[in-house]
Amino acid sequence: MRVLLVEDDDRVAAALGDVLRRHGVLVHRVSSGRAALSAHRVDLVLLDLGLPDIDGLAVCRALRRVVDVPIIAVTARAEEHERIAGLRAGADDYVVKPYSSAELLARMEAVLRRSHRARPEAGPSPVAEPQPVASAPVVRLGALEVDPDARRATLSGAELKLSRKEFDLLAVLAVAHGAVCSRELLLDRVWGATIFGSTRTLDVHVATLRAKLGDPDLVETVRGVGYRMRSAVPLS
Ligand code: CA
Repeated sequence: MRVLLVEDDDRVAAALGDVLRRHGVLVHRVSSGRAALSAHRVDLVLLDLGLPDIDGLAVCRALRRVVDVPIIAVTARAEEHERIAGLRAGADDYVVKPYSSAELLARMEAVLRRSHRARPEAGPSPVAEPQPVASAPVVRLGALEVDPDARRATLSGAELKLSRKEFDLLAVLAVAHGAVCSRELLLDRVWGATIFGSTRTLDVHVATLRAKLGDPDLVETVRGVGYRMRSAVPLS
């Protein structure tokens, strides 16, 4: 199981991380709300509500919009109205500091059980279902042509020599036809479960893709959100 631990206090994070790892949990720790929002692909989130950069409740609401996994709010705020605010912000449960690791582990198990019951399809399937072969249409954006099935991209008729990830990235952006693709979406579609936390990999691939396209403006940065492809790629 992978847990995103959002905790700005190093001592708390180290102690909790040890406990979780002893229970076979893969812990990905971040210490700010901003970092929490760019991490992804976990099974459960432990979210400290007292964070240095963004209010924990706002982080909780934002996480709720992008991930469909249990969130346990961890906090020193014990007041009832604050617990309610946490639950309203999308947390599945609430643990008040100081808590015992036994209590936290029990609550983690309980929210995971509940979420699996609510979404039976989320559980591991004993037999792999045959997947229909989806055929993706060729995308044309002016001079750029991307054929997702053939994994071929051309610009003004000249084939682009792209790495596997660069092609995947270009394909996701091109299929969006100029709509903004969030960093989370791009990381999820291109790297899936194999990448955690650090999103620098995405920026590096965008940079190499831009270089191969020969025009950095074709892939636009949308500050704080992600990237978008120019919907009309001019002939070069
Ligand atoms: Ca804190």
